[in-house]
Amino acid sequence: MNRLNDWGLCFRRCKVCGKYFLAKSQRYELCSDNCRKAQALQNKREFDERARENNYDLLYKNECQNWRNKINKAKRTAGFPADQLEEMLTAFEAFKKEALKRKKAVKEKTASPKEFTDWLYQQSNIIINLSVY
Ligand SMILES: [Zn+2]
Repeated sequence: MNRLNDWGLCFRRCKVCGKYFLAKSQRYELCSDNCRKAQALQNKREFDERARENNYDLLYKNECQNWRNKINKAKRTAGFPADQLEEMLTAFEAFKKEALKRKKAVKEKTASPKEFTDWLYQQSNIIINLSVY
């Protein structure tokens, strides 16, 4: 062991295949090119997975903004019926409440991100129909 230290080598356990190998420093975590490739692929998969997960959250935020824009436009429109505006606000609250419930289900993996985003797209019609004046 001391000899290895003198040579600047140390035993490391490969993060991918679990084999022990000699490395030039503690920083080395992978034993071979194959394991480096496997790790790179795994990193990419995790990256894509995170991107997908962030994506549904982003889509929800965009959709919320879309609702807010429609509501603000109605508020600025002279003569826009007050009861219709009231209906839009009520629908928005219901939309947010339901969306948070569904978002939670995705996080807890009882629903898929796709189910959530499909539902999200269908909701656009509600506010579009309510903003017709
Ligand atoms: Zn390995």
